[in-house]
Amino acid sequence: MSDFNALIIGSGPAGLFTAMWLERLGIDKIAIFDRNQYSAGGLLNDGKLNFDYRVGIDLDELQISKEEAQTLMQEVKQVFIKFPLCQQVTFIENNERIDAWRKIAGEHNVEFIAPEQWHYGTDNGKKFVDYLRSSLVNTTFFLGTEVISIERENGRFCFVCRKDRKRKEYFGKTVLASPGRSGAYWFRDTSRETGVNNNFGPIDVGIRVELNKKSYDSITDVVYDPKFIFHTKRHGDRVRTFCTNPGGRVRIENYDSFKLINGDALFDRKTENTNFALINTVSLTQPFSDTTEFGRMIARQFFLLGGGRPIVQRIGDFREGKRSSQSTFNSKTRHFDRCRATYNAVPGDITLGLPARIVDNLWESLKTLDKIVPGILHPSTLLYAPEIKFFDTHFPTDRHLETNIEGIFVAGDGTGKSRGIVGAAVSGIIAATGITGKYF
Ligand SMILES: Cc1cc2nc3c(=O)[nH]c(=O)nc-3n(C[C@H](O)[C@H](O)[C@H](O)COP(=O)(O)OP(=O)(O)OC[C@H]3O[C@@H](n4cnc5c(N)ncnc54)[C@H](O)[C@@H]3O)c2cc1C
Repeated sequence: MSDFNALIIGSGPAGLFTAMWLERLGIDKIAIFDRNQYSAGGLLNDGKLNFDYRVGIDLDELQISKEEAQTLMQEVKQVFIKFPLCQQVTFIENNERIDAWRKIAGEHNVEFIAPEQWHYGTDNGKKFVDYLRSSLVNTTFFLGTEVISIERENGRFCFVCRKDRKRKEYFGKTVLASPGRSGAYWFRDTSRETGVNNNFGPIDVGIRVELNKKSYDSITDVVYDPKFIFHTKRHGDRVRTFCTNPGGRVRIENYDSFKLINGDALFDRKTENTNFALINTVSLTQPFSDTTEFGRMIARQFFLLGGGRPIVQRIGDFREGKRSSQSTFNSKTRHFDRCRATYNAVPGDITLGLPARIVDNLWESLKTLDKIVPGILHPSTLLYAPEIKFFDTHFPTDRHLETNIEGIFVAGDGTGKSRGIVGAAVSGIIAATGITGKYF
């Protein structure tokens, strides 16, 4: 097989948008590798799309201005909104109700962000992926093919892969690594062997809150996925709400040695609950800076405590310093029946697995949020753990997202360049433009 012009790791939004933009810029012979059989990574999940430069990307990390970010997001939006099942869910133009919420949040020293938002739902994920893939004509997909290592041979890159237990090699002129959060740990180790520089960035550790939908409708009817950012008084730390799913379900993410909590919503079928993540940003310096390992240790601890399943606790129990138990989990006398869990986690005590400082920060933020949206601390409200966002391995790059190794570019969540679908797509476009400008 002749050499490819670009070898892409990961078929998620970062990888797909890189391929799409390479094609638009006239590049052919593109290969996308994904270890999963169908996969388009996180495009299959929920599909809540935030078009706002303050959400899902870090301007400094991508070395772009607000204006450039907004322009790139508009490009991404044009692709998404052509999909007929993608629906606008938050309208920000002249929205006085958003201004009112911002004012209330401000009175409690909480920052409030209301981005323009669209949604297509997990139930439309595959249709959306098929739609995107059908637009790629010069890209070959190698699905169910895991990239094991990246080597250099006679001035070109070689992907050593595994498919059906057989080893295969593919050659290319340039590499784009977008392995997502699930492949971040593998890519970090591989990069070290390949000589690609990387270090640790902050990690987000917290919980997923699930509550009766009616308790949060006042805000989600105006902003589908409202972003509240807290700076805690006690520790001066940053906590934020993230990934709100009105009428959604709590979901699980499977990793090699643990499970993480997440959430999504379907387009057609809604539950009686709303869920959102509440996460605390943690940076580590001396003597231990490996935030990935820190997060993995917390996740493994929960895995152990929950007998292989995540833990869930009612606010009513949490407030009394008690673990939740199966026998009282849906107790009517304690009003726990107001919120039926959408995921079967193990009733227990989330404070056993989270560091005290994080528990303090989360609780202080929840109490503040209850002042902004009264009623969220109803005894039936559920706290699931662990919810951890591994966006922490950081790859220093130039402004085209090229690493210190010429020809190796990075994009997406697994390399610290984005935090969400739209951000991953934006970083893919930047990398594609960089690859084309320098190598073709
Ligand atoms: C339940 C859930 C709900 C979510 N909801 C939303 C949402 O509503 N809105 C939003 O913006 N974000 C959401 N996210 C986050 C979103 O999925 C990610 O931000 C986004 O997918 C990141 O894109 P990516 O291309 O960087 O990585 P991914 O989409 O994770 O894609 C990476 C791909 O690389 C592949 N891969 C990894 N290592 C290798 C290897 N060695 N060889 C071959 N292939 C490899 C993986 O199989 C994967 O398919 C959600 C995530 C989850 C888990």
